[in-house]
Order: sequence, then structure tokens, then C-alpha cells
Amino acid sequence: MPLARQVVKDLAAEHGACLRPVQLRRTEIDTGYIEQVLIPCGHTLSSVCPPCAERARLLRAAQCREGWHLDQEPVIEPDPATEEQRELVTERAEAQEGRDLLASEGLDTAELDERIEELDEEITDAGMRGSVLPARPRRHRSTRRRQDAAPLPRRPVTARTIGKTYTTPDGKTFRPSLFVTLTCPSYGRVDEDGAPADPDSYNYTRAARDALHFAALFDRFIQNLRRFVGYDLQYFAAIEPQKRLAPHVHIAIRGTISRVELREVIAATYHQVWWPSTGTARYDDDCLPVWDEHTGTYLDPDTGEVLPTWDQALDAIGNEDQPLHVARFGARLDAQGVLAGSRDASRCIGYLTKYLTKHLGHCHQESTDAQAAHAGRLADALRYEPCSPTCANWLRYGIQPKNARPGLRPGACKGKAHRREYLGYAGRRVLVSRKWSSKTLADHRADRKNWLTTMLGLPATDPGRYTWEPVKPGDPEHMPNGQRLLHVVADRIQWQTALELARRRAVEAGLSAAGRAA
Ligand SMILES: [Zn+2]
Ligand SMILES: [Zn+2]
Repeated sequence: MPLARQVVKDLAAEHGACLRPVQLRRTEIDTGYIEQVLIPCGHTLSSVCPPCAERARLLRAAQCREGWHLDQEPVIEPDPATEEQRELVTERAEAQEGRDLLASEGLDTAELDERIEELDEEITDAGMRGSVLPARPRRHRSTRRRQDAAPLPRRPVTARTIGKTYTTPDGKTFRPSLFVTLTCPSYGRVDEDGAPADPDSYNYTRAARDALHFAALFDRFIQNLRRFVGYDLQYFAAIEPQKRLAPHVHIAIRGTISRVELREVIAATYHQVWWPSTGTARYDDDCLPVWDEHTGTYLDPDTGEVLPTWDQALDAIGNEDQPLHVARFGARLDAQGVLAGSRDASRCIGYLTKYLTKHLGHCHQESTDAQAAHAGRLADALRYEPCSPTCANWLRYGIQPKNARPGLRPGACKGKAHRREYLGYAGRRVLVSRKWSSKTLADHRADRKNWLTTMLGLPATDPGRYTWEPVKPGDPEHMPNGQRLLHVVADRIQWQTALELARRRAVEAGLSAAGRAA
């Protein structure tokens, strides 16, 4: 016999209802009328909530489609600053002036520095983008190009974001765009199943570091590409794993560039990681650096000597030193031209969003022992590889991580990149440039909602009329998940019937209007 509770779940999934709805108490401010409202959990992983994850994926697909072949410059005008925002920035200006005055007289600036830090946070909280001062790298690294990378012609970047239009001899115009896939270099030959032919010679360290720094390399690529083409090129990119578990990136690019030029930009693109050396492990698990309460630093367990701080370790990197890692793309390049609205465009959007509902490490099923062993070795390589300046693993190499605090243990860093399901890449899975569509993901979501309420003829509700509170397990009106699911299934079926009816009416109205016109 089927399990009743499972049938409810299956029904919910079948009707696209959230499997873990969240219960809220909605109070109408004017009347004090209280209602229980169930809203979808909104999770993006299908292992947690398949219907919500699928909805999120479709939303990304809509976002990708809308921006890819735009033929008009998207208009993105920020709202004017509010009185509160202007006041905060004024206060920030005064704090800076006071601080710089003290500094010029050699006096203590600690108090004002702290105030400045607070103000910067308040500025962000008040809904302003960026910060008042550009982030200034503390150290100067030589910006000389690497000798092993080809130089790249540079053009000034104009504000244009729209690709070129082409006209055929018979007067048809079209605006092609691009679908590009970039991969990591080879770490050793792999078999059909993605596992290395010779695991001992496969370069796991390199594979781990390339994955950790993949997002930075991608940023560098876009920067180079924009300088190369000379306009503000826009993209929608999705990061995915290959069978060999190395990340690769599918990119929808607005406008078109020749394959030869793309190859040139890829060959000239690299990202150098100027981190301290991890060549020798100075401390292992049975003699780890110890935290000193009084100084707030880590000490050598035997000598009591204070370990160099992150900043000191960076300062010690000299001009003759090599970067810890240089990340580059592999030579393999897939690029195809795609026309707006074509079947190719839909297929590519399918690729771009295919794996978004899964963790990187769960995209390819492990079916052979070799694959399982390969995943294990990659995880091992990532265990002691520092994931960021704050990574606990720096202690292993005798360096205090940035913002050191007690309880750090090499090999047990909490950074996502070390977790098996992330395969070393902990960044965002979808990278979208700011002027892709003129909408944010929230705008695309609102579009869907508007369509639905218009279709159903529901009155537009003003969110300002209500207050919302979460309902906690101890509250008298709290519904257990099973009960919430029953409500969600019933609601969903009700609205799907209403929607079906509305659709039929719209078709009939269209037909009779056409009849009248005839
Ligand atoms: Zn959900
Ligand atoms: Zn880490």
C-alpha cells in the first residue's frame, strides 16, 4: 500500500507546490484581521525542494533569454539618494576629515577609524551600492605582463552594451550573439568516465587551485574581453563541472566576436595568486600552533614565538618571488553564433540552466570505482589547500590567517570550497553582468506574479497594508509540515483550475473578437 504521507508529497511535487512551505502570520494593519499564509521555501537545490528549485531554474532561464539579444540599451537608473543616505555620506565625509587631520599631526586615529568602519556598514545597510572609497590594495605588485602570456591590444571601453547588427544583401537584418564554453587546462589524461588514466601523475594540486580561483580567472577574462572589443560587453554565465570534476563555464555573450579573437583573449588571460608559499607544512595535527588569549595571536607550540600575521606574510613576498598559483583556461574552446528566438538559443539556455538545481559535486553520478576514487583524491587535495586569506589551513604553513580567532584547525576550515559537494568552487553558480536585462531577478519574479494575478483577475494587493511575522513551533496556530502540505496541495489545485478557466476564456474572447472583426 502506498504511504499516505508520501502520496501528499508526490501530489505537491506534481502540482509544482513547495514541499517545505513556510508559515507566516499576516495582519492587516487597518483592521487587525489575521490570516495564516503559506509561502514557498524558495530553495534552489532540488535535493531540498524540487518544485522551488525548478521554479528558480526557470526564472534564470527567463533572465538569460531576456538579456541575450537585447536590441536596445537597457536603462538602469539608480533612484536618487534619500535624505537619510545623504546625511550618512555627509557624516562619513566629516569623519574622514577629522581622521586625516589627526593622522597628519601624528595623533591616535583609532576611535575615528572605528567610527568610519561603522559608517561604511551603515551606508551599505541604508541601501547604497559600493563604498565611498575604492578598495585600495595594500601592496604594489608588479603589473608587468607575464613573459609567457601574449600581449593584448587594448581599446578604451565605451558604454555601449548592444552587439552589432548585420544586414544581408536582400535587406534582412539580424543581430547574432554568442554561446561560449571555457574549460580548465589538462591535469593528465582522463578516461571516458572522467577518471584519470594514471592517477599518480594527475596534477590534483593544480586542479584544486584552478577550481579555487576559477571565479577570479573568469573576472579577468571578461575584463580583458571588454578592453579588447572596446565596449561594455554583457554576459550571463553558469559554472558547471565536467566529468573529470573540473569546473567549466558556459557563457551567453550579447553580440559577437570572431573565434580567432576569442582565442587571442583566452591565450592572454591569466590570474596570479599572490599568496604566501605553501611549499612546506610546518605544523601537522599532533603539534599545532596555540592561540594566546592575551595577545590574540597564534604561537609556536614549542618556542612560544608569535607566528607571522597574514599582512606580514604578504609583505614578505618579494619582487623576485613567484606567485603561489597562476590560473589559466585550457586551449579547448567551444563557440557558436546564436540568433534571437532560434531553436539553438533555447537549446543553449537549456545547457546554461541544466545543472543549476544541483551541487557541483552531484551533477555527474559516480558509477565506477575509479570515479569515486578520483572524487576522493580531489577532496584530499582540497583539504589542506588554503581557500582564502582567512582559511584555517594557513596555520599549517606557519602563518596566522587573516582575522585570526581561536579554534582554527588546519584541515577543518569551514569554507565551502573544501566540502566535497563544491569541488573547490564555492562562488556563485550564475554570474550575470549588471546590464544584461534591465531587470534584477526580483523584477523577473514580479513579472511572473503579475502575469498570474492579471490572468486570474485577482486584485493587486498592496504589501504595505500588512505586517508579517513567522509562526514558530510553539505558537498555538502553528501547523506541522504535513498539515501545511495539505493546504498547499489544495490551494494549488484550486488555482490551477482557475488558471485553466481563465485561459480558456481568454482564447474564447480572442476567437469572438476575431469573429466580430471579420
Ligand atoms: Zn520549497
Ligand atoms: Zn579554507
